[in-house]
Amino acid sequence: SDLSQKVHETLRDVPNFPHEGIVFKDITPVLADGVLFGEIIEAWRERYASQNITSVVGIESRGFIFGAALANALGVGFTLVRKPGKLPYERIGVDYTLEYGTDRVEMHVDALKPGDRVVVIDDLLATGGTCGASITLVQELGAVVVECAFLIELAFLKGGERLKGVPYHALTVY
Ligand code: IMP
Repeated sequence: SDLSQKVHETLRDVPNFPHEGIVFKDITPVLADGVLFGEIIEAWRERYASQNITSVVGIESRGFIFGAALANALGVGFTLVRKPGKLPYERIGVDYTLEYGTDRVEMHVDALKPGDRVVVIDDLLATGGTCGASITLVQELGAVVVECAFLIELAFLKGGERLKGVPYHALTVY
């Protein structure tokens, strides 16, 4: 689509960040383009407007930026998935494996309630570890993940296979 093409053209590839040999997809030029940022949020709003979504769940940290904007556009609340040690109140956590070692994501115990219908959102789907663990958190709170939404999917990493069978959607696919 035109929107996908525009996102593709606006993203910046940064070689050797954060490590030698990694090409980092830098989304900051997309955020800096007010028209494009607005078009992205509008596309997602249209996609989810008739899905009875009760909350948007954003994954730290770039998922907060898109997720908060989408929640506001849908007229629903916004809920945070964070890295360990950041959330102040009582929380649940899920550990997941990375290529080297493990990581963990956490949510507040009262962030969602049974029957909530959520969209989980992040900027980029790579191996799917982060989003897969976030889906588990949401489900442990009794809520339903209607879909996961990403700006970018690195399809060659097959992250979709780690999303517990939950549908997902990406605006741009590499
Ligand atoms: P995964 O858990 O391997 O799917 O990695 C996804 C997480 O890593 C997301 O939270 C992304 O924000 C982050 N990430 C990985 N690679 C990139 C990148 O090239 N650009 C921006 N974020 C990235």
